[in-house]
Amino acid sequence: REPVLQIEDLSVAYVTNTGLVHAVSDVNLTVHRGEIVGLVGESGSGKSTMAYTIMRLLRGDAVVTKGRVRVLGQDVYALSEKELRAFRWSKMSMVFQSAMSALNPVMTVETQIVDTILAHRPDLSRQAARERAKELLDLVRIDRKHLQSYPHELSGGMRQRVVIAIAIALNPALVIMDEPTTALDVVVQRSILDEIRRIQEQVGFAILFVSHDFSLVAELASRVAIMYAGRIVELTPSHLLNLSERHHPYTEGLLKAIPQLTADEVTIQGIGGYPPDLQDLPPGCAFHPRCPYAMDVCRRVRPAQVRAGEKVLECHLFNEAEVKAHV
Ligand code: SF4
Ligand code: MG
Repeated sequence: REPVLQIEDLSVAYVTNTGLVHAVSDVNLTVHRGEIVGLVGESGSGKSTMAYTIMRLLRGDAVVTKGRVRVLGQDVYALSEKELRAFRWSKMSMVFQSAMSALNPVMTVETQIVDTILAHRPDLSRQAARERAKELLDLVRIDRKHLQSYPHELSGGMRQRVVIAIAIALNPALVIMDEPTTALDVVVQRSILDEIRRIQEQVGFAILFVSHDFSLVAELASRVAIMYAGRIVELTPSHLLNLSERHHPYTEGLLKAIPQLTADEVTIQGIGGYPPDLQDLPPGCAFHPRCPYAMDVCRRVRPAQVRAGEKVLECHLFNEAEVKAHV
């Protein structure tokens, strides 16, 4: 299948008074047409930075220090500002965590959709944009009467559906969703997730779904990238995300942290310790201070990326040759 997103050897850092904060390091990831790929990690793992990097929406203090981002074959960082404006929203778009901050409180739903369309496609007529707004509301299953509503007149779930409608207004091939349901209560989360799945199936765009919620991502995505300290430590098909498979020790910890329902008890086994300081990463494998399997080599040598069956991992446990070479 054709790739819509290709991230190659990407590193991103924030420049601070006290030095560089390495938010994303050596990331490789491809998302194909119509595919849903999940990106999970704890807060500070670099997953939001990845999302903003792809959209070229990084803050002023962030720099891409290495690598490339291509969307539909186009290097996103090679576009001029003007080209970027046309590219964003028509080829790639983003759903942000907070619908309230994504929407303008003093504009009706219709105006926001129409203005977004016209801002990125000035060649279209206002009438055509209005027609498209109606179609989009049908698509996200909101009554057309709400075209004249203001954001505060809608429920949280409806607002997030409007945000999704705006994101797909120009039929992008790739939609990045950064914690799109996190601000919502659990029941509404569930319905938005079903809605995302339904619309995605109907329209066929690819999604990079960014979330700290491991079980949610595993359920929605066909492949899942697990981030730790700015690196993708495991990339796996989601059907392999269970404890009878071998995983990166961090992934294993996340899987064990999902509440396990047994006959008469619920046990939650978290991962001890804290994520590392991104300004002062531990030598070797950044996970070693928390890893129950850490070996001597782990404290000295950063594990190389290895393929194991359908997975890609960064862990010495999966590369005996590498371990032998360093003892
Ligand atoms: Fe644990 Fe070593 Fe694997 Fe890192 S490389 S996850 S420390 S076993
Ligand atoms: Mg975030």
